[in-house]
Amino acid sequence: MFGIGLGSLVRIGFRVSDHILKQQEIERSRTASERARLQAEASRERTNEENAIRRRTQLEDEIARASVAVECPNCGATGNRIRKASTGFCQFCGTAIQVNESGTAYIADPIEKAKALVAEEIRQKSGATGND
Ligand SMILES: [Zn+2]
Repeated sequence: MFGIGLGSLVRIGFRVSDHILKQQEIERSRTASERARLQAEASRERTNEENAIRRRTQLEDEIARASVAVECPNCGATGNRIRKASTGFCQFCGTAIQVNESGTAYIADPIEKAKALVAEEIRQKSGATGND
């Protein structure tokens, strides 16, 4: 649930190929000043990229700390980690599991399930952290 998803890997792949193209542009560039400018640009992009990855990792750590291991109320699976006071989905049977402030898990009511589904969809579309 908190690993890097396919979407992110594809985007990272594109960025890596961007870096390769940039490197080729640098090699092709004629003048030293042009080369310096392109190198500075490439290094800035790398720094931005590294910062984005660091922020995402920190966010994932925070989510992992705030989450609790819960037993699925439907299938009994114990491998799910869900944040307190939120709703997640059993990774084995797909049941919407609601976890209260004290960490108790129960089958989510339909409204909570719908909210969690929408949140999950938004998260996947935006490529934000989680399976991202
Ligand atoms: Zn389950």
